[in-house]
Amino acid sequence: MLRRLSNFATATAVLLTAAICLLWLRSYRLSDKVTLTRDDGTRSLRSAQGSVVLGLYLANYKPRPTEPRGIAYTRGEPSSAQWDLMGVLFLCYDPSAKLIRWEHAGFAWSHRRSNRDLIVTAVAPFWSLGAATAAFPLGCTALRLRSRRRRRQTPGLCPTCNYDLRATPHRCPECGTPTVTSPPRAQDNHSSTVTF
Ligand SMILES: [Zn+2]
Repeated sequence: MLRRLSNFATATAVLLTAAICLLWLRSYRLSDKVTLTRDDGTRSLRSAQGSVVLGLYLANYKPRPTEPRGIAYTRGEPSSAQWDLMGVLFLCYDPSAKLIRWEHAGFAWSHRRSNRDLIVTAVAPFWSLGAATAAFPLGCTALRLRSRRRRRQTPGLCPTCNYDLRATPHRCPECGTPTVTSPPRAQDNHSSTVTF
């Protein structure tokens, strides 16, 4: 059960990593954006060139009634994540607004809170997401290899599935792996050659 669960999680992580790599390549050709609009504001996730941008805009007034609520997908021209980060700098002056900005190695965080609204922009490079999702299957593979090596050193257990082979020493009944038998002794060879 645990093995199946781990296989499922590994397969999911591999698929996720592949999807992230595809979106990474795609981000230089176009920008995909998913927006969730609710009465209190919008939350969005978009692909910028080589990065993922998470946007949050919450206001203490309702958005225009004509603005559709719910999830919407839009596709646009490729653009840098800097456009998202620069957006708050061009807003009207608000004495109550406090802006916090941090940027390092492709990661960025911008947080602007005022009496009227809250605007948050978070940027992460695609490579970091790919590395995070690939870490799980790679870690699982490394652990499996290590435990398989250990099992091979344990006599009486199947090297593939760890099944107890005391009753069936030549082949594992669980997974069918033939077990390595020790070479016949010199005495046995001699006895077989002298028979006519
Ligand atoms: Zn086995």
